[in-house]
Amino acid sequence: MPIDPQFHENREVVDTREGYNIWGPVDEPEVLGIHGTHVAVDFDICLADGACLEDCPVDVFEWVDSPGHPESEIKAAPTNEAQCIDCMLCVDVCPVDAIDVDAGRTA
Ligand code: SF4
Repeated sequence: MPIDPQFHENREVVDTREGYNIWGPVDEPEVLGIHGTHVAVDFDICLADGACLEDCPVDVFEWVDSPGHPESEIKAAPTNEAQCIDCMLCVDVCPVDAIDVDAGRTA
């Protein structure tokens, strides 16, 4: 199932990390929520393919550890989402549709 593009209406911010919002529910280590707002990554879908890190022209993403998560032990965190230029490459290359980018959606 892809990331919910209406997550900002269907979920609530439960935490922050490195300046970006985390949208719940979160129940670590198995449930990690959606990370970021303008550039949003559903950590519960992300399987650490890495295409977003390779293709993003402005290095929005970085790996963070997620030990014990059923999909993968690392996740692509949108740590630099403020630098996003809305090229949509990450959305296109993600094999599991874990990423949603919305130019009008800001933290
Ligand atoms: S839309 Fe483009 S610039 Fe923004 S995070 Fe994705 S790949 Fe990077």
